[in-house]
Amino acid sequence: MGGLLRDRIRDVPDYPKPGVVFKDITPLLADPVAFTALTDAFARRCADLGVTKVLGLEARGFILAAPVAVRAGVGFVPARKAGKLPGAILSQAYDLEYGSAEIQVHADSLAAGDRVLVIDDVLATGGTAAASVELVRRAGARLAGVSVLLELGFLAGRERLTGALDGAPLDAV
Ligand code: AMP
Repeated sequence: MGGLLRDRIRDVPDYPKPGVVFKDITPLLADPVAFTALTDAFARRCADLGVTKVLGLEARGFILAAPVAVRAGVGFVPARKAGKLPGAILSQAYDLEYGSAEIQVHADSLAAGDRVLVIDDVLATGGTAAASVELVRRAGARLAGVSVLLELGFLAGRERLTGALDGAPLDAV
């Protein structure tokens, strides 16, 4: 990631709880040059990987992935928190530090011919990304890769994801 993007991600210490440094991307989103550069970088990954759909993870993954879909000329699919999608769903539970969470996609939103790029802002422990990769597989689609803006290396999300990726690339743009 170049300085243009890095300089527009704000560290917020002790949010949402003590000891966590929250990576706030709102300054980047507010800068049209930086947001465009980021969108272009994700869109290049779509072209390189032959992607047909981007899967955006609620909520910041929606903001990042939707313009990528338009720029790359591919479909946008939202992976939502439980209880938000009205149609028939596929649901995947995953562990959090305390407790568990669930993400869902519409069962008909991905199909066998799709090559899917999962997009989110931050890869931390990798739990969210691993659950979304599982949804892609269960929907019968192919995982093209996982792309994030930032990878928090000390949380070892990459290691946690390795098996689930099954050779698909994980990259921080
Ligand atoms: P994880 O499942 O642990 O990889 O967490 C990833 C999800 O939590 C992503 O959707 C991120 O938006 C969010 N997240 C986790 N840690 C941070 C952080 N330090 N700053 C901003 N967002 C975070």
